[in-house]
Amino acid sequence: MAMILTGKISEQGFEQDYVPNTEYFYSVSGKEIKAPSTIVWCNDCQKLCDGELLPSLAAINDRMERFRSGALDEVLGLDGVKRNSEISEMELLRNLRKARKSEAKCLVCGGSSITEVDEPEGYSPEYPPIKLTVKYMNGEHQLLIYISGHANLKSMGKVVLNEEGQIA
Ligand SMILES: [Zn+2]
Repeated sequence: MAMILTGKISEQGFEQDYVPNTEYFYSVSGKEIKAPSTIVWCNDCQKLCDGELLPSLAAINDRMERFRSGALDEVLGLDGVKRNSEISEMELLRNLRKARKSEAKCLVCGGSSITEVDEPEGYSPEYPPIKLTVKYMNGEHQLLIYISGHANLKSMGKVVLNEEGQIA
């Protein structure tokens, strides 16, 4: 079940339903590795989009260490083989991160004028919507983001990116 998020800029009559339904992969040295993605507001698309989440080297090292120590085995249901494959994937991601020249991109238009959005935790009004100041049309406006329902996705879309996050 995927979440349906709704973004709203009331005074501008802007309303968008957004369902994250795509998985992204980097093509690195002939291998495909998971590309961490997140929800962003894109100033060029003027809407909520999938965006790259470029983890810091420290975050990658930290996660690698957690895989190595076995701390994630139970949560992720890993055995030795799966753990090693996660670790080698993290190594490839670390190499990519070190070599990466460009900033994180909007995965719709490829622009870098994006703001990461925190995911709302639950339904309004029990959980207040996420509030974000964004550039929309010619001014700055407050965008509210909340969970508005669930979508039944048969399958996730798949998109392969090159090492600079461009759609291959
Ligand atoms: Zn965009």
